[in-house]
Amino acid sequence: MDSVNETIDGRVEDLVALTQDLIRFPTINPPGEAYRPCAEYIGERLKKRGFTVEYVRGVGTPGDSDRYPRTNVIARKEGGKPGPCVHFNGHIDVVEVGDGWTLDPFEGIVKDGKVYGRGACDMKGGIASAIIAAEALIDTLPDFPGAIEISGTVDEESGGYGGVAYLAERGWFSKPRVDHVIIPEPLNVDRVCIGHRGVWWAEIETKGRIAHGSMPFLGDSAIRHMSAVLERFENDLYPALEARQSNMPVVPDGARSSTMNINSLHGGQEEGHEGLPAPCVADSCRMIIDRRFLIEEDIDDVRSEIRSILEKLSETRPDFRFDMRELFAVEPSLADKDAPVASTTAAAIRDVLKREAEFVCSPGTYDQKHVDRIGKLKDCIAYGPGVLDLAHQPDEWVGIDDMVAAAKVMALTTARLLGAVK
Ligand SMILES: [Zn+2]
Repeated sequence: MDSVNETIDGRVEDLVALTQDLIRFPTINPPGEAYRPCAEYIGERLKKRGFTVEYVRGVGTPGDSDRYPRTNVIARKEGGKPGPCVHFNGHIDVVEVGDGWTLDPFEGIVKDGKVYGRGACDMKGGIASAIIAAEALIDTLPDFPGAIEISGTVDEESGGYGGVAYLAERGWFSKPRVDHVIIPEPLNVDRVCIGHRGVWWAEIETKGRIAHGSMPFLGDSAIRHMSAVLERFENDLYPALEARQSNMPVVPDGARSSTMNINSLHGGQEEGHEGLPAPCVADSCRMIIDRRFLIEEDIDDVRSEIRSILEKLSETRPDFRFDMRELFAVEPSLADKDAPVASTTAAAIRDVLKREAEFVCSPGTYDQKHVDRIGKLKDCIAYGPGVLDLAHQPDEWVGIDDMVAAAKVMALTTARLLGAVK
């Protein structure tokens, strides 16, 4: 494997330039900007290296249109003899830029050994590492057994429906085509991510009765009812969630317990002309919650915990009426750390970085859920060079040394999983 590592060391400039090029496609989701040129850039590069390249558009999936096509790229390179297939999957979409940047988010600026830009860490640096790893392996050991695949997929940040889910439903992430999957999400260069917490998104609506704002006693304020819900959350629910700790190795530490974010709160009528208020009592107030739960929790208990708070309020609070609607649910996922891809990656981290790998779980979900549930492929992990805490932040970056190390770990893992080296 020394020769593969030397090849990677000789291609650091290429690795940096590739990362910069990927960052320069402003693949913001929503709406799904520049997906096609970004997918084609990856496809054209790999085609030149002997990969068979296919483009698959997630036709009719959320957000798909001729203006914003959900274009995915899948590239496959057969080795010299039959064997298993290792697949690297990276999402090409990035989240919105947001405030607080001191650098151009789409220029791909290199400074102090880091490449900066939206998506540098999450996860274009990871995609670049995987491409360099695969190319170095192919060039150095061209007769490797089996096959290597690299895919660039869309919409991970919005659920993955037009990307990995769409492809998995059509057999792209299943046996016998694929055996092992590595997703280079930013979980830090020395950590192997074997799963994630569950997600439950819901909308809660409290109901009131409209009346003139000068005589609120003739109506019934949905906003005041919602404030009663918030009070129960603050006094009862949040302390209970914080007290629940998982045995899953979730990082960072704060995500070891159950959490809930209140994503949004809307109450009352829209403001009218020039921001003048609607002179009415609010007849509706809606809240969106994002509950992240542990593998030790049952999703039905997660639902009924919130429902029982609301039901108790309808028993104790006059005229309290509510609706609760589920928006999205994902069960927690946990791969076996002794399974081939997890244990082989951990061993490669030890060999390349000369330190023990840490097995972790992600606080949020990522496309592993679709590979696992739809594709029925259990042998899937996330491993990539980005620093987890930088994902979605302003001035996001990826370290060049970390990308080089990750590429070596990926190449060694792949070579061992395929049986090309011991
Ligand atoms: Zn990501």
